[in-house]
Amino acid sequence: MEDLQDIYNELIMEHSMNSYNKKKLESADYSEKGHNPNCGDEITLELKLKGDIIEDMAFTGHGCAISQASTSIMIDTLKGKTIKQAKEIITIFIQMIKRETKDENELKKLEDAIAFKNVSNMPARVKCALLAWHTLEDMLNKKQTQAKGDINECH
Ligand code: ZN
Repeated sequence: MEDLQDIYNELIMEHSMNSYNKKKLESADYSEKGHNPNCGDEITLELKLKGDIIEDMAFTGHGCAISQASTSIMIDTLKGKTIKQAKEIITIFIQMIKRETKDENELKKLEDAIAFKNVSNMPARVKCALLAWHTLEDMLNKKQTQAKGDINECH
């Protein structure tokens, strides 16, 4: 039986070396930079929304294999999801990395991003794995604040 962790490692290597998600979007609605000074990881996430749905996402930047692969796999996992679903999955991912959940049903929602489960055993890599997820979380929260602001302006 092939070790599940080998499959996960292959997936991470594949995404870190040459990701189809590493590009510029033609017309992004939002863009946000993320930086992990501990390791030197730097990413710029671009997001295109269609109503409440994440229609497209891409990234540019550089950094270690974990940070780059985590960004790319996050994009695969969250594309096509609603903002609400995306936020739920982001929370589960952060909980998995911080070892705050082992609930199999919750972890299933992570799809391929479950490949980073073992990062919870590597404290030096935790920030690398979380960089993209925290960056997107900030982005979605800012977007919501902006939307609320727009509603207030109508009064
Ligand atoms: Zn890193």
